Amino acid sequence: MLAYRQAIHAHVCGRCLDSDGVGNCRIDPAQECTVQQHLPLIVEIVNSVESNSMNDYVRVLRNAVCARCSFQTVNGYCMARMNLDCALDRYLALVVGAISEVKEEEVKKGLSP
Ligand code: SF4
Ligand code: SF4
Repeated sequence: MLAYRQAIHAHVCGRCLDSDGVGNCRIDPAQECTVQQHLPLIVEIVNSVESNSMNDYVRVLRNAVCARCSFQTVNGYCMARMNLDCALDRYLALVVGAISEVKEEEVKKGLSP
């Protein structure tokens, strides 16, 4: 998971509204970033999808991650998503890109099927 966390830091955090512009996270430590909080599941899901359409990633991530997230209500409503306060939702394309890059490197090195 370290390589994935490093890729998120390199490709997402530096561009995140909640960073200081060079990738240092400024959110309240009591309020964990949704990308960091759910990263193992996000990695598993992104690596299981093969699609050129971001909509396919959105659909599976909402089904799996949002369904387990404490911010989402039982009827599927998420105030953080509505207010653009969720880093995963805001930077989904960057997150998918960062994860896919690590996976490609692992495949090249023979570390992943
Ligand atoms: S909120 Fe998440 S994505 Fe944004 S800087 Fe913090 S750790 Fe990175
Ligand atoms: S969009 Fe809402 S429910 Fe989904 S991960 Fe973000 S905060 Fe959680």
